[in-house]
Amino acid sequence: MRRDRVSEDIFVFVSDLYVQVTSTVMLTAEGALVIDAMPFPSEAREIIAFVEGRLGPDSVRYVMNTHHHADHVYGTYLFPGAEVVAHDACRELLSELGPASLARAKQHTPALAEVELRLPDISFREEMYIQLGHRHLRLLHTPGHTPDSMSVFETNERSMSAGDLAMPVPHIVSGDLDQFRASLQRIQALEPDFVVQGHGNVLLKGEVEELVEGHLQYLDNITERVRELIENDEPPRKLREIDIESCGLSRIPLDGSVSKLHLENLIHMYKMMAGA
Ligand SMILES: [Zn+2]
Repeated sequence: MRRDRVSEDIFVFVSDLYVQVTSTVMLTAEGALVIDAMPFPSEAREIIAFVEGRLGPDSVRYVMNTHHHADHVYGTYLFPGAEVVAHDACRELLSELGPASLARAKQHTPALAEVELRLPDISFREEMYIQLGHRHLRLLHTPGHTPDSMSVFETNERSMSAGDLAMPVPHIVSGDLDQFRASLQRIQALEPDFVVQGHGNVLLKGEVEELVEGHLQYLDNITERVRELIENDEPPRKLREIDIESCGLSRIPLDGSVSKLHLENLIHMYKMMAGA
């Protein structure tokens, strides 16, 4: 698995197995902080081996779930000695939907056979603060991709792990467009020096601006394009003709998966706007 060092003791792991999903690891003299835990046990174990190599056994103190989606939470059960922290709604969604969706996932994906559902131990509604060693974390509720999404801002290094609020294309299917816009603006207002996306590369300062402006424009563009289609009484199959580049974003990132996410956005939007 790829490991990027973004500062002295902050590392970002990028999955080889599932759409470049990321995990942020911060090392301190008091133990480690992990933000998102990978979907597959093999990759979560790689992270544990890395931390234990630096800080010794059982040294992860906190695991934070940026939201309840499987690709960010399934590895969490491998950190039994850590406190698991998430938004209130993440805990609710995981207890409600988690057991059935994990059972389904195990049927399709043998590599998940041993996964156990681990619920957050601590949750918050608006904002929470965690200090460990020299790291000061602000956990912020930043809904939009999902209702329970949170971002983690480390105030000394000005690093932001934004979960799927930041990825190469905004994905709105289980979220809310207005909340998405507001959360992007909130992230930008904090002026992070770098942003760890939920999927894909770490963004540096100048790229953060580009991401926020580009995503806000993209959300306007898809709204406009789908509205036109509906006003002209065009059938939903015409959505396939609206490619991602004509809406302002590249089709290249995440090995091309962005086009699939884009089409899901269009279909979702069509259903919402046509009231179907
Ligand atoms: Zn994700």
